Amino acid sequence: MRFDIITIFPDFFSGILTHGVLRRGIASGLLSVETHNLRDFAHDRHRTVDDRPFGGGEGMVLKPEPLAEAIESLKFAPKDSRDPQKESVILLSAQGARFTQSTARELAKLDCIALVCGRYEGVDERVNELFCDRELSIGDYVLSGGELAAAVILDATMRLVPGVLGNEASSAYESFGPSDAALPEDGSGPPRSTHGSGGLLDYPHYTRPAEFRGLAVPEVLSSGNHDQVRRWRRERALEKTWRNRPDLLETAELTAEDKKYLETLKNTLTKTPSPGAV
Ligand code: SAM
Repeated sequence: MRFDIITIFPDFFSGILTHGVLRRGIASGLLSVETHNLRDFAHDRHRTVDDRPFGGGEGMVLKPEPLAEAIESLKFAPKDSRDPQKESVILLSAQGARFTQSTARELAKLDCIALVCGRYEGVDERVNELFCDRELSIGDYVLSGGELAAAVILDATMRLVPGVLGNEASSAYESFGPSDAALPEDGSGPPRSTHGSGGLLDYPHYTRPAEFRGLAVPEVLSSGNHDQVRRWRRERALEKTWRNRPDLLETAELTAEDKKYLETLKNTLTKTPSPGAV
């Protein structure tokens, strides 16, 4: 899968491209990531890429010509004939639709993605209209530039590209993951003591030592009873979601048993978020 990033700060990405999963994905040839300096597409000797806003007001706006030429240099199909199953030009914007794990799953199926990073007050809206397939926001806050957002989208998406993580199961069985029903039934998944989250948060994880500063690992995890482990993990995932992200419960895929457990939780625990309590 290819990622092209248009930015006035190409060096911003050198750190993330040379570490961890992303570095390995690039080295293995499964991913390619190119940064493109917007200033290379400027038309004057000062390499100007911004100008004052029509209508007045604060700040500067990224000019359309350099952005248009930078996007055109990537040789994506023109917007109206672009195959949405293959390529997408994405504008990073606080005004965009919220980027979620489900967006990442969708994007990971494409061949090429271009990420256009805004700066200052944003980009001339005609660039959005003429070239971009969608605007994405990584959350309800305003960043000073699209680079961090592009890095987040790149990271969350590339790890879902088949082969990049090595073990496909690690991305299926985690927070915001698909339900068991949506996972392959060919036995390629992990042991059934694990559970597809169905839109819940992940359950808590433990490793050695069995006791740390007076806290023991929950006994059930060493019991060897896969059914009990599976049930314990599901209950902890439900509890964590209920405490930290109750909004997710509205769309999560819940069984009758899950719903019953949530009722018990509501009746026995107060709704005060307490990180680390579950
Ligand atoms: N005037 C814009 C507004 O109020 O929506 C904010 C512009 S912001 C200072 C500069 C650039 O940062 C944006 O053009 C966009 O590329 C990026 N940006 C800021 N917040 C973002 C977010 N939550 N998600 C994605 N990109 C963001």
